[in-house]
Amino acid sequence: MEADILIVGGGAAGFACALEAAERGATVLVLEKQPETGGSSAMSGGCLAFAGTEMQREQGIEDSAELLANDLKQLGGTDADPALIAAFATHQLETYDWLKAHGQVFSPALEASSGQSVPRVHTVDPADMVRLLAARCRTTGKVTLLVETAARRLQHDPAAHRVTGVLAEGRDGPIDIRARNGVVLASGGFSRNPDLVRQFAPDCEHAVFVGGAGNVGDGLRMAWALGADLRDMAQIKGTFGKHPTDELNNHSCLCVYKGAIAVNQDGRRFVDESLSYKLLGAACLRQPYGAAFQILDEPILRSGDNEVRILDFERRLEEGLFIQADTLEGLARQIEVPEEMLTKTVADYNAYVDSGEDREFGRKHLVHNHGALRRIETAPFYAYPSTAAVYGTYCGLRVDPAMHVIDVFGERIEGLLAAGEVVGGFHGNAYMTGSALGKALVFGRIAARTALGAAAG
Ligand SMILES: Cc1cc2nc3c(=O)[nH]c(=O)nc-3n(C[C@H](O)[C@H](O)[C@H](O)COP(=O)(O)OP(=O)(O)OC[C@H]3O[C@@H](n4cnc5c(N)ncnc54)[C@H](O)[C@@H]3O)c2cc1C
Repeated sequence: MEADILIVGGGAAGFACALEAAERGATVLVLEKQPETGGSSAMSGGCLAFAGTEMQREQGIEDSAELLANDLKQLGGTDADPALIAAFATHQLETYDWLKAHGQVFSPALEASSGQSVPRVHTVDPADMVRLLAARCRTTGKVTLLVETAARRLQHDPAAHRVTGVLAEGRDGPIDIRARNGVVLASGGFSRNPDLVRQFAPDCEHAVFVGGAGNVGDGLRMAWALGADLRDMAQIKGTFGKHPTDELNNHSCLCVYKGAIAVNQDGRRFVDESLSYKLLGAACLRQPYGAAFQILDEPILRSGDNEVRILDFERRLEEGLFIQADTLEGLARQIEVPEEMLTKTVADYNAYVDSGEDREFGRKHLVHNHGALRRIETAPFYAYPSTAAVYGTYCGLRVDPAMHVIDVFGERIEGLLAAGEVVGGFHGNAYMTGSALGKALVFGRIAARTALGAAAG
């Protein structure tokens, strides 16, 4: 088999890449190892980080590519590659417009979440978004999708240090596929491969793992075998807010970003709750039993947003996941933390809110640089049991801003590109809500343009 572009993985990155390439006239082959496409993208919270959109302008929210880039730099620290951040910041708005032009509908609510200085979470139904992109691919007549077909090895010409295709395994056996313009790895992360996670992040041993069933690191290992360099591998962390026993809901619940505090089993706070939920996850796993409670009152519970999965507190209440009491003492008894300590922790926190100075952890905002703190004072009071879950590995192949995969000697592996969660070096130390699904789309489109030799503008 042969195509202009061969894409490994049928998630958001794969289909964004396929559609962009097909719209530019290329023939595309998408391989998906699972019977269904979608990967982690389809099961995600559907939060996309875009800045400077018409929706934001209509709601009076001032945002820009520069502010987005600054937030990403502040979060990622020295490990986040400024060139990748710049590529994302430059191309995200056109990707938002491109999605809308293809018929993508966004929920009207805009929220601020992990790592965001202003509300920039644009929410979609994630499974519908992948279906929409796949349907648009079909109508171009240029994209062939093979499901239950796994890429096993990259075909490589060592003399030219060039990838020429892949060896795949389909329903009827092995397939040798040639790619004229390049192979794009869009095979996602490896959150479903705890052994591989443990090699890089032994601290996550007790974390819960969530993600697409096919996300075991195939693309990462195939490129690694050719000498690809890796980035951010030590930054794998669980995301805070997963209910430890809940089987219904795959997502975090982030009451802290609306004003809750997080306490450990001793009833003590342990972190500035406005930090990125990746950092909150790491702090949570260091507490006794690797667990915590988000503590909130009635007004905070009612300030959630039913359109955004991670802020849909009322749904979680209906599911019986919150523990509720008329007094803080009663709540403490139910969650088996010392009563005096929980009441003191809440009283101290309320005093910090009043004085404007959190003397213990320096919390200044609800989330990142956004939102004024709120007292926890109006019954009923609630506790949301929380631990950390690894939803994505957010690390992987080193790429340049055009999405070429770079080897350990700093040289391009010609003919090999990557996009989406398989890419490392973008998030660095922490994580902004909406930047993983966002980067899957944005980087997927960039990879298509690069493979076709088109200007990235
Ligand atoms: C529960 C959950 C909630 C999340 N919420 C958000 C959110 O709200 N916002 C956000 O920004 N991020 C979120 N994320 C992270 C985000 O969803 C992912 O980082 C992003 O969707 C990755 O997109 P992708 O296309 O790179 O990978 P995926 O969507 O995972 O697609 C990769 C595909 O490649 C296939 N594949 C793998 N190996 C092979 C192979 N050898 N051959 C062929 N196919 C292969 C897989 O089966 C899979 O279908 C969430 C993740 C989870 C799990």
